[in-house]
Amino acid sequence: MNILVTGGAGYIGSHAVRKLRETGHSVVILDNLSYGHRESVPNDIPFYHVDLRETDRIETILREHQINAVMHFAALISVGESVEKPLLYYGNNTLGAVSLLEAMERAGVRRFVFSSTAAVYGEPEETPIFETTQRHPINPYGRSKWFVEQILQDIAVSDPQFGFVVFRYFNVAGAGEGGLIGEDHRPETHLIPLVLFAAMGKRDNITVFGTDYPTPDGTCIRDYVHVDDLVTAHVLGIEALRGGDARFYNLGIGRGYSVREILDAAKNVTGTEIPTVFGSRREGDPARLFANSDKVRKELGWEPQHTNIEEIIASAWRWHIAHPDGYNIL
Ligand code: UDP
Repeated sequence: MNILVTGGAGYIGSHAVRKLRETGHSVVILDNLSYGHRESVPNDIPFYHVDLRETDRIETILREHQINAVMHFAALISVGESVEKPLLYYGNNTLGAVSLLEAMERAGVRRFVFSSTAAVYGEPEETPIFETTQRHPINPYGRSKWFVEQILQDIAVSDPQFGFVVFRYFNVAGAGEGGLIGEDHRPETHLIPLVLFAAMGKRDNITVFGTDYPTPDGTCIRDYVHVDDLVTAHVLGIEALRGGDARFYNLGIGRGYSVREILDAAKNVTGTEIPTVFGSRREGDPARLFANSDKVRKELGWEPQHTNIEEIIASAWRWHIAHPDGYNIL
């Protein structure tokens, strides 16, 4: 298939680009490089420095490359920033997706894979979280993705030939390609890279956000899925997709780890005491989030290969040790 990958220079997109090539697909990348890194993708892949809202240019790209399907990763991802700048999030994540879908409609492209998030569940009523668990996003980031999920359903009603897959990500972690590519968010807010930065001495310590949660050790529990497993699900999804499909899948391994468990695992992996400060809760953090991922396993045959948390952290560690300044290697 000829596949357009938006956000192909980002953390997850750059892993998806490689996985798609390995599985025999032809890839074209679109990225506005606001957060992505040009260095994270091979030079021989067609690359367009384009914003999602440039509908006409995207239509031209779709036609020129005879694109059959779109994998849409490009998005802003910070919950806190979305609370401060909601219009930025609705503009980029929601209107950006509408613009992309409009270009697809004009060019007759009817296959779409969408990166959604467990944030659509907000403070979930049940754990594990099923795809049918009520969606009650509690911040603009979650709503910006939830709106797109609903827009996709409306498009599917209007066009029976349109087919889409929505993947709701839990906590994506790790690095692929033996540490050649990895996570380089600026600013970094995610637990595992920050813990590893503390282990490397790149920051003084890591603050644990809350030790009084109703969990066995008092810290929050999350479901960490390796980025390589995550993108494998996308390849399975795009290959299975048919006109009329409206598929929704949770992507998590179905097991949660607490913040303290992550710290212990990181200590084992790095052989270093992680300087830790115990702080107060971060606003909007639910106590426990982990997936029931039976649906994606059953329907797409997905089987995550990296279910051991130390192995996931070790893969991230390889990347950070080899690239202490991320993609700024010069
Ligand atoms: N966390 C923490 N200290 C940090 C960053 C995160 O204790 O500096 C906790 C956070 O409260 C959550 C878990 O680590 O329980 C994962 O947070 P992250 O920001 O990586 O992902 P999120 O679950 O918010 O998507």
